Amino acid sequence: MSIAENIEKVRNDIKEACVRSGRNYDDITILGVTKTVGADDIMCAVNEGICDLGENRVQEFMDKYGKIPNVKWHIIGHLQTNKVKYIIGKTKLIHSVDSLKLAEEIEKLSKKANVTTDILIEVNISGEETKSGISKEEILPLLEKLDEFSFVKVKGFMTMAPKFASEDEIRQIFRNLYKIFVDISRKKYNNISMEYLSMGMSSDYVIAVEEGANIVRIGSKIFKQ
Ligand SMILES: *Cc1c(COP(=O)(O)O)cnc(C)c1O
Repeated sequence: MSIAENIEKVRNDIKEACVRSGRNYDDITILGVTKTVGADDIMCAVNEGICDLGENRVQEFMDKYGKIPNVKWHIIGHLQTNKVKYIIGKTKLIHSVDSLKLAEEIEKLSKKANVTTDILIEVNISGEETKSGISKEEILPLLEKLDEFSFVKVKGFMTMAPKFASEDEIRQIFRNLYKIFVDISRKKYNNISMEYLSMGMSSDYVIAVEEGANIVRIGSKIFKQ
């Protein structure tokens, strides 16, 4: 199947999942994950209307940034503090903020560049040890601190399901984070708004949409031909 056909399939799956779960298809952003994908293939996806792109490594992001016009870039992979300087002012959203220290560095460099940087907090719902992301219990204390920030704006949460989890387990994880997302959105913060819930990849985006995701991060299902 071509990239265009892959995208059509993904869109149809998401539309059907929206119908099943009473959601609005227009509320959902398909983020094209372009790691290891070359510029020509990326342009195919962009031409099909995939305008939000995600990279998980800073080096690869820098190689591609500027080569693909009219797109919004997202950083979705684990971000080291010493790499923040390369991405400030270039991202629509950083999905993978998982420590106060990293947020402080983003705050500091955003202030210096006089830009605001929108971030998501990466949460590790399953408690799986190999995964990055903070635990459920760490969410509120971290948000209390980030609410004091000026140049970093928290816009929601991101999570990844464990690789070998069953469909039921994955659904529970997504459902759990959606609940927290809704709870937090009812609290009064100055600097925190729950706009984005980034859950679901090629193998589990249908479940993620059914359970409330409004950004799905899809790589192989779009770019594998
Ligand atoms: C690679 C990656 C994805 C996309 O994975 P696919 O299974 O290829 O869709 C999504 N999120 C993150 C954080 C990734 O690193």
